[in-house]
Amino acid sequence: MNFNVAVIPGDGIGPEIVAEARKVLDKVGQKFGHNFNYTEVLLGGVSIDACGVPLSDEALETAKKSDAVLLGAVGGVVGVDKWYELPPHLRPEAGLLAIRKGLGLFANLRPAYLYNELKAACPLKESIAEAGFDMVVVRELTGGLYFGERKTEEVDGVLTATDTLTYNENEIRRIAIKAFEIAMKRNKNVISVDKANVLDSSRLWKKVVNEVAADYPEVTLTHMLVDNCAMQLVKDPAQFDVILTENMFGDILSDEASMITGSIGMLSSASLSEGKLGLYEPSHGAAPDIAGKDIANPIATILSAAMMLRYSFDLDKEADAVEAAVKKVLEDGIRTGDIMSEGCTQVGCSGMGDAICERI
Ligand code: NAD
Repeated sequence: MNFNVAVIPGDGIGPEIVAEARKVLDKVGQKFGHNFNYTEVLLGGVSIDACGVPLSDEALETAKKSDAVLLGAVGGVVGVDKWYELPPHLRPEAGLLAIRKGLGLFANLRPAYLYNELKAACPLKESIAEAGFDMVVVRELTGGLYFGERKTEEVDGVLTATDTLTYNENEIRRIAIKAFEIAMKRNKNVISVDKANVLDSSRLWKKVVNEVAADYPEVTLTHMLVDNCAMQLVKDPAQFDVILTENMFGDILSDEASMITGSIGMLSSASLSEGKLGLYEPSHGAAPDIAGKDIANPIATILSAAMMLRYSFDLDKEADAVEAAVKKVLEDGIRTGDIMSEGCTQVGCSGMGDAICERI
């Protein structure tokens, strides 16, 4: 099959890690008989240098026309890079918000998986880490408290700030459907997280999620209060498969879930739209401190490309092959500097990409 991928190397280590993800996609293409056609798109600091804006209209159009978007990272260092002398809406990170909005990405997926070989990096007690975990947080990305009306005013002579948390049933339904579809590709278990003992928005959330669940009889649905979920993530992370939640709860819980894996260079993410188009990127940033040295860990980007195969292209077998190759590389003791441990072999960014390709 043929797939058109918009590729956004971006800034810092972006070009290095994206090059390795492309290498891996090409290997998948060779092995399974697919063609990935890449179109490079400028975003972030490099786009400011070339076009004066962090995301041009043409760049957004190219991304919209593609089957999926693969992104490295954008951004530099405040006080060092001249991009940060520009007003906020023209800085590199503004391009990220613009592309997410422009592509209508309302679902954010952040997997948290504990590799056997990296258990020592897990900050949880050994007895908990021993059981391992493999979950994905599905977070609503365009509604709720971060997008509601807000104001700060004086009420009876006292400064008073108000933020509003609004969800309508359609917004809840579309993210719930995504979560159940994802669960069908995983272990068929959804834990929906809310604060229904207090919030109206959560009570509507629960009602709509129950309605959606009726269409997925194979998936087990449980409801969990957000405060309990925050505790369960560090007490018994093995119980989670798909965590479905609204914007702010998801913001906090996805950071907590990624923290317990202990390795930033391993964390992939995806943001999905109503259809099949998605944007796939590592959870880490542009790491300007190590850019251009061939020492960045490309695994988060490679795993993001695997998510692209699974969720935008429905190539589950191919995604499994990439994930298995990453596991094999770790089992074989091959490490980049950030996850290096005694007795292992250290490789650079491109060496890691090669090692993963060899195992596909
Ligand atoms: P960062 O994630 O870039 O780096 C934090 C630390 O982790 C650094 O020490 C870095 O060297 C290390 N690190 C990150 N990714 C790594 C990898 N793949 N392999 C090995 N080590 C890795 O976060 P930061 O330093 O806060 O931000 C740097 C720049 O990136 C800023 O301009 C920020 O705005 C931007 N940023 C972009 C995104 C994005 O593009 N989505 C996300 C976060 C930050």
